[in-house]
Amino acid sequence: MLVMKFGGTSLATRERIETVVSLVRQRLARHPVLVCSAHAGVTDLLLNGARRAAAGQPDLGPVREREQATLAALELPGALVEPELERLEQMFQGLALLGELTPRSLDAVAAFGERMSVKAIAAFLRRRRIPATAVNADEAGLLTDSRFTRASPRPEAYANLRAALARAEGVPVVTGFIGRDAAGNVTTLGRSGSDFSATIVGRAVGAEEVEIWTDVSGVLTADPRIVPEARPVERMTYAEASELAYYGAKVIHPATIQPAVSRGIPVRILNTMDPDAPGTWIGPARARRGTGVTAVASKRGIHLVNIVSGRMLGQSGFMATVFRAFADHDVVVDLIATSEVSVTVSVDRSEGVAEAVGELKKLGKVTVNSDNALVAVIGERMRKASGLAGRVFGALGAAAIPIAAISYGATKTNLQIVVPEERERDAVRALHDALFPAAPPPGDAG
Ligand code: ADP
Ligand code: ASP
Ligand code: MG
Repeated sequence: MLVMKFGGTSLATRERIETVVSLVRQRLARHPVLVCSAHAGVTDLLLNGARRAAAGQPDLGPVREREQATLAALELPGALVEPELERLEQMFQGLALLGELTPRSLDAVAAFGERMSVKAIAAFLRRRRIPATAVNADEAGLLTDSRFTRASPRPEAYANLRAALARAEGVPVVTGFIGRDAAGNVTTLGRSGSDFSATIVGRAVGAEEVEIWTDVSGVLTADPRIVPEARPVERMTYAEASELAYYGAKVIHPATIQPAVSRGIPVRILNTMDPDAPGTWIGPARARRGTGVTAVASKRGIHLVNIVSGRMLGQSGFMATVFRAFADHDVVVDLIATSEVSVTVSVDRSEGVAEAVGELKKLGKVTVNSDNALVAVIGERMRKASGLAGRVFGALGAAAIPIAAISYGATKTNLQIVVPEERERDAVRALHDALFPAAPPPGDAG
């Protein structure tokens, strides 16, 4: 079996959806299972609508118009998603009456984007004589924890999905992004979560491969919105792809790789607008060539917490106390840099930071510096590349970019640098120029 995941941009217009149909048709012999996002922009419309409803202005208009326009373009009846739109209308009214919006209600609303899109895609496939059934993952047993807006699957999810998908007639067209907790509440796996759904489904059905169809020809050496000349990476390891996603490469959700690793399922990133491009193959091993660096990624909104303490010297339990303070408030630490009397850590969410800092103040002087970006240079073979640190710091120095903190772990798949947020783009460009020099023009023998 083969899992094919289509992102919002791949489902945005009739033309793209026609491409989806032909890609599915070419692969029918491999028994594809589709995992689909909401049509591009719909999740944002839903979340904004929910916020406005809770502020006293319930208006389903923008969502309704968008969905009806998509169905009209596909020549499908508008009545197809009327039950979903009616339910949403009631939810918006409810939010307006309550005047509040919880993570749980945000998930309940957001889930409708994927529910409506799978109905449309399955109907369109049937219209093109490919038998297909829309499947809501929450109803098909994709059980998760109750961490609304960022849920993770529970172990039972895999067997449940396997059984439910075996019952679907024709090609199952499964909702990405959504699941359900043990109490029956709808949950979501976080923004971009359909990628994660794709590998969850892949693991559940024992897929030979998971194809993630998007709007770029694979994972690129940097975010193309920052570095337009970034180029596709032909192959990368699971570890590299996970780190890239975790450190901000939006092309896949950070948790996508986990379910694939556990079964050794290769993941391929492909372009719906250029289906013949080779894309990126992500798997257990990688061809032994290249410079050692695979890609550069970055994320904004990084807080640096600095703890200065005279008591640190010779204290074996000091670090444990620091990390406990963060752990107690569910704060994930990314980067750590230490000296004899100070420790600096970076975190990427504001929640819980103030509380953790309150506890850390018992240890010494604590300062928090926000508005930073974390830039990560990633590559499993970086450890073998000599002179890399020199090139990295040389490039940042030449661009006059101040460095607030650095970290380079023992496994050396990842060099992390914290820079001021307003210099994020400059830093990524400077590093990309230095680490991925443009190929010489053909015929230039040097
Ligand atoms: P989809 O709707 O298919 O899920 P996304 O918008 O979530 O698509 O992800 C694809 C986008 O990710 C690309 O259009 C690109 O702008 C962005 N992106 C950021 N970093 C990278 C990278 N390193 N490689 C490829 N794309 C990247
Ligand atoms: N529709 C969801 C989002 O926009 C999930 C996804 O597209 O992967 O975040
Ligand atoms: Mg995405």
